[in-house]
Amino acid sequence: MKQISVMRSTLGRLPIYLEFLQGLDISENENISATVIAKSLGLGEVQVRKDLNAVSGAGRPKLGYRTDELIKRIYEVLGRNDIKKAVIIGAGKLGNALLEYNGFRDYGLLITAAFDIDESKAGITEAGKEILPLTQLEEYVLREGVRIAVITVPASSAQSICDRLVGCGIEAIWNFAPCALCVPEGVLLQQENLALSLAHLKLTMNNG
Ligand code: NAD
Repeated sequence: MKQISVMRSTLGRLPIYLEFLQGLDISENENISATVIAKSLGLGEVQVRKDLNAVSGAGRPKLGYRTDELIKRIYEVLGRNDIKKAVIIGAGKLGNALLEYNGFRDYGLLITAAFDIDESKAGITEAGKEILPLTQLEEYVLREGVRIAVITVPASSAQSICDRLVGCGIEAIWNFAPCALCVPEGVLLQQENLALSLAHLKLTMNNG
């Protein structure tokens, strides 16, 4: 698959385009233009044009894109043909909310299980996801070929969990614990801070 770098804002709109395109009758809509997509979804034409250009190049003059090819391309960029498994460490309030959230599927991600040091939390959730004792972490990650992990433990335990994840071959970590983690070169680390997103909204509001 051709590797491309897509802006976060574009990535956020791709599932919306995909849902719209998949709802079309392809036999009647063999080609589709950015103008039609923009109008149908109530989005700005320039923005839609830029998004589609980033994933599938410029459309053909007057014809736009072949609808089936555009669907295939968006699928590829979203990683829906290449589902990657992820696990969560820390099955508390946040960990459970993420474990139950279905929206990760839109981006080719499947959170398969959560692990917790508190063995009384082990079991199957209503949505059928496993919560397992932390002692089973390494064996599970290796057996299931998991390469992505989410850390939702208290800050005091986050580095030791991170070290264990790296030790069993995890390549990308999404850390919610409010602390800076050290990872070796080659391991991707993304720090999440929900307060920052809300603070940014507040700042934008005050400046408006
Ligand atoms: P919580 O207390 O409900 O859950 C923490 C869970 O981690 C518990 O189930 C606990 O048993 C488990 N745990 C503790 N030590 C562990 C270890 N060494 N290994 C495995 N499991 C362990 O807390 P919460 O509200 O779910 O928050 C979890 C973390 O996420 C905290 O660090 C919190 O500060 C952070 N948080 C971050 C954001 C953000 O925007 N980044 C938002 C909310 C919470």
